[in-house]
Amino acid sequence: ATPAATMVGTTIGAQNGVLFKGGDVLERAKDVDTVVFDKTGTLTKGEMSLTDVVAFDGGRAVTDGGDRSDDAATDGGAVTARERTDETEVLRLAAAAESGSEHPLARAIVEGARERGIDVPDATDFENVPGHGVRATVEGTEVLVGNRKLLRDEGIDPDPAAETMERLENEGKTAMLVARVSDGEGELLGVVADADTVKESAADAVAELRERGTDVMMITGDNARTARAVAEQVGIDPENVRAEVLPEDKSDAVEDIQSDGRRAMMVGDGVNDAPALVVAYVGCAIGSGTDVAIEAADVTLMRDDPLDVVKAIRVSEGTLAKIQ
Ligand code: ADP
Ligand code: MG
Repeated sequence: ATPAATMVGTTIGAQNGVLFKGGDVLERAKDVDTVVFDKTGTLTKGEMSLTDVVAFDGGRAVTDGGDRSDDAATDGGAVTARERTDETEVLRLAAAAESGSEHPLARAIVEGARERGIDVPDATDFENVPGHGVRATVEGTEVLVGNRKLLRDEGIDPDPAAETMERLENEGKTAMLVARVSDGEGELLGVVADADTVKESAADAVAELRERGTDVMMITGDNARTARAVAEQVGIDPENVRAEVLPEDKSDAVEDIQSDGRRAMMVGDGVNDAPALVVAYVGCAIGSGTDVAIEAADVTLMRDDPLDVVKAIRVSEGTLAKIQ
């Protein structure tokens, strides 16, 4: 393009909240054939809230959302052998362990406990296990909060919670296991779940991209079931979902997608996303994105609106006629 055309494109972009880092990327964006969205904070609002707390006893759900059973009362007093862990206790311990984490999942758990008037004790020896969860010592006992792998690595079988986990994940929620280790013995205590909401324009953005002939994909560290439920809400095909991708593997996943010559635009908001933004044909940081993501990106969307991804491509194509 001529310098004048580049200037016009850059200006129209800026007027629409789409900041191109240079003439190069302004040119490239029109050749994008695949858009890869990060899930949390990009397609969803990234505003988690605690929705469910389920308590287990001896690996069996004693209270499970609205579907309360009175099993505990009818099995001959076996339950009294061990102090029964109720929902409040599960949430109290989970919130304590998570209080050292900045992760949105953790913040929602801590906030949920406060809202319910629970007195959250202090934790020590906090350890973050990226992409899996946290562990910390609470009242002298090690407490774990995280995904199935976190528990398995600790020798705790997450399977008794399988039904509960699947039910919550099918609702698009992120379900996390809560366990404790005392005297070297692991015990599954319960499950907590956080939910996020899909951004209002996410489905429209996906539909417009698909209409243009662009393949739309989603990449997330979240589990496959939750990821698929969210994908369905926004109109992304289940086979285009890459789930359980560890933070350090996101850029490999994008390289893999591009390995057959695809030209991918990666759209993300987080620190996690920066390496993937760099390897993508076009890296796009969205909205309230972190400084690290903005730094790594070729395009920055000032608003938090997935439809601006379509605008970025249209500006590059020279087809964004209407200046707002
Ligand atoms: P995302 O890509 O959605 O931001 P992450 O890669 O940070 O996800 O985490 C992947 C998964 O690891 C989460 O879905 C959750 O199951 C688990 N996890 C990560 N951090 C935490 C935490 N602080 N507490 C509990 N679980 C966590
Ligand atoms: Mg994110």
